[in-house]
Amino acid sequence: MPKKAGKGLMQKAAHMVRRKAIDPGGDPYLNREPPKDMALCKRCGAVYHEKRWYKRENLPEKLEGKPNTDMVFCPGCQKYRDKYPGGYITIEGRFVEEHGDEIVRLIDNKEDRQLNINPLEKVMAIRRRDGRIEVETTTDKLAQRIGLILQKAFNGEITYKWSTDNRIARVVWRRDDS
Ligand SMILES: [Zn+2]
Repeated sequence: MPKKAGKGLMQKAAHMVRRKAIDPGGDPYLNREPPKDMALCKRCGAVYHEKRWYKRENLPEKLEGKPNTDMVFCPGCQKYRDKYPGGYITIEGRFVEEHGDEIVRLIDNKEDRQLNINPLEKVMAIRRRDGRIEVETTTDKLAQRIGLILQKAFNGEITYKWSTDNRIARVVWRRDDS
């Protein structure tokens, strides 16, 4: 039956698209019991509504002024509290010696739209060690995006590696000329 086959394909395509966004499959934090609608994250101020988290300034207009029901930690802040990263970025090479401050400012930019698309994606830690910068993020997607942001700003080379369950990304950005 062609109709049925067609529908199956559509479902498959939709599933793949969803996996590209936030994939709850391998993420225990996204599979937990959801909070009450309009719950407020007490650390970052994100608000939960109909299965997703919004930054307060991105809440749909109809919800403005609606009271919060509960005080919780959003999955991003739970990961932060538990020190449970989904992505690691190592930034290395001679370039980092002279441009370390610039690089950290770029990654630590709370106003940058590319860094702040989803309230569940957060930079958890930025450490400078032995001429390298090590960054931890709550999701693999954010680690990848930071790699791309660095490449766009400073060229360099990126390599990506995933854990076998595809949950954790290890990104290395490197530039050797100063
Ligand atoms: Zn939060």
